[in-house]
Amino acid sequence: MKHRKKMDVPFHRPSISEDEVEAVAESIRSGWITMGPVTADFEEQFASFVGMPYAIAVNSGTAALHCALDVLGLGEGDEVIVPANTFIATAEVVEYFRARPVLVDIEKDSHNISHEKILEAIGPRTRAIIPVHFAGQPCDMDEIMNIAQENNLAVIDDAAHSLPSKYKGKMIGSISDMSCFSFYATKPLTTGEGGMIVTADKDRAEELKSLRLHGMARDAWKRYQKSGSWKYDVLRMGYKYNTTDMNAAMGIVQLKKQNRMYDARVEIARSYAAAFSGTESLIPYQVKEDRESSWHLYPLKIRPDALTIDRDRFIEELAILGVGTSVHFIPLYRFTCYQDIQYRVEDFSASEWVYEREISLPIYPDMTDTEIEYVIQSVLDIASKNKK
Ligand SMILES: *Cc1c(COP(=O)(O)O)cnc(C)c1O
Repeated sequence: MKHRKKMDVPFHRPSISEDEVEAVAESIRSGWITMGPVTADFEEQFASFVGMPYAIAVNSGTAALHCALDVLGLGEGDEVIVPANTFIATAEVVEYFRARPVLVDIEKDSHNISHEKILEAIGPRTRAIIPVHFAGQPCDMDEIMNIAQENNLAVIDDAAHSLPSKYKGKMIGSISDMSCFSFYATKPLTTGEGGMIVTADKDRAEELKSLRLHGMARDAWKRYQKSGSWKYDVLRMGYKYNTTDMNAAMGIVQLKKQNRMYDARVEIARSYAAAFSGTESLIPYQVKEDRESSWHLYPLKIRPDALTIDRDRFIEELAILGVGTSVHFIPLYRFTCYQDIQYRVEDFSASEWVYEREISLPIYPDMTDTEIEYVIQSVLDIASKNKK
């Protein structure tokens, strides 16, 4: 890049304005800072955004997945099917029950769990499937729901990336038994930390509300309010997974901006697709025709055989130019904690193939046009400088 001035474009910047600051301040001033009425408002608004009757707020996406598996009654020795290419949380929550996450390979184009490989992975102890909608692109939910029905399995979405995403016109969150969202700092809606479970099942919703607060009976959170009572019952052992009204206050403001933030990411994805589609060494990420992605991530892939450098070096060169990137994901079987699985690379050839090629580029609503253009030019310059 001869004449261009060096910039610093971080991998992510959360979109937080004075509106969020004001809402959180108001929540603090109210004197009620833990879970309370603002959380209930946030849950109601979130449920209606996704189009489901019930939403239960918790303090992380991981906690959401943990509670969802708990209400299924998952037990020791059970198996749950998860994609090999996901964040550790998806599999970790299965291990909390001394159950076994069964890793399944992905599709090379969408990076989503392969439904054909799901069929091969089902055994007598399989209880559930956790599809992850990678980068916000919905998995093939018709296929997955059919497989689940035929084999009597539950489906819990890991919807950490997919707000808002649609499969054949239906919102992710409204298709499976339970869907779990994350409000971690980099996610489409953030409250710093946080999560949400949505469901259509009233009894499950009640159980989840109890589970997230020590298994206490319904209105125990009010016990320090004027209208509350010191007396409460504990129905069963639960967890300390409740969120706070400070987080929920931020969530309500973020929810109001969701559609605007989504439109901005779609625009960036379009610019990337247009800029990278003509270069032989680059594979732009595509979303299948019957789906809409939240574009939480922009997973570019490189073609190592058309370049003199590998993916790691490509990332280093981007970093030298000031462009922050990431890789989604390091396949789970590569981690030390899974060394005992003794995986065979043949079982995960698509995950390996994607892992060798993937680079997640910056994509967030507050990126300026200059920043978007700078990322594009940096990628194109590195690709052309290192062409085979
Ligand atoms: C972020 C993420 C989670 C976990 O969410 P936390 O809120 O950080 O607990 C789970 N699964 C996937 C795929 C994620 O990206």
